[in-house]
Amino acid sequence: MIIRKMSPDKNKLFKYLNQTRELYGNCLLIEGMGQIDHKKIVSDLTAFNESICNCQKCPLGKTRKKFVFGMGNPQADIVFVGEAPGKQEDIQGIPFVGRAGKLLDKILSAIDLNRADIYICNVLKCRPPNNRDPLSSEVERCEPYLLNQLHIIKPKLIVALGRIAACTLLKTNESLTNLRNKTFEYAGVDLLVTYHPAALLRNPNFKHPTWDDFQFIRDKYLHKS
Ligand code: URA
Repeated sequence: MIIRKMSPDKNKLFKYLNQTRELYGNCLLIEGMGQIDHKKIVSDLTAFNESICNCQKCPLGKTRKKFVFGMGNPQADIVFVGEAPGKQEDIQGIPFVGRAGKLLDKILSAIDLNRADIYICNVLKCRPPNNRDPLSSEVERCEPYLLNQLHIIKPKLIVALGRIAACTLLKTNESLTNLRNKTFEYAGVDLLVTYHPAALLRNPNFKHPTWDDFQFIRDKYLHKS
């Protein structure tokens, strides 16, 4: 019979794991694994940002002030995607920090979410001059970055903010009205479309349907284990 002797460290670890299992069941062990996952996702996202933040694949690389990678919870169930950074975002390097972003924060808090619960980014990582719509040549070069972010984060839901973001991702020309209230799929993930918060600032009539959209998001995608 072969008896494998455990090293003292392994013995201690074994004892510790048995004790924690007796005290807490398997949950704590699983949570511990979750922390390892969390660290890996954070480091994957950070490494990815570092690898692309000096991107010069399109002319926006020359005109941007800051590359706007994205921010939020790397293990978020929901990723919000706008079209491209605006003036404030370009200055600060953070998505949705201008007036529209502040309104988005209020809408999120109405369904008990804040920026630490979700992840937020844009299709384009650099600001188009004078906030013009993204060009298809820019989207072609930038969209793979978004796809890789989604691959790392693995959300349950993507929310496209506004018609431009939605049409860019879904490769369609439909109106926002036709895109709302439908569940699409993007990169294997459910995708919903709602108004861009900047549209609500221009037209308060959009607030009510937006609230309907966010209630749907809350009821279908949140608080489910
Ligand atoms: N509008 C967007 O689409 N994205 C931002 O980050 C800011 C405003």
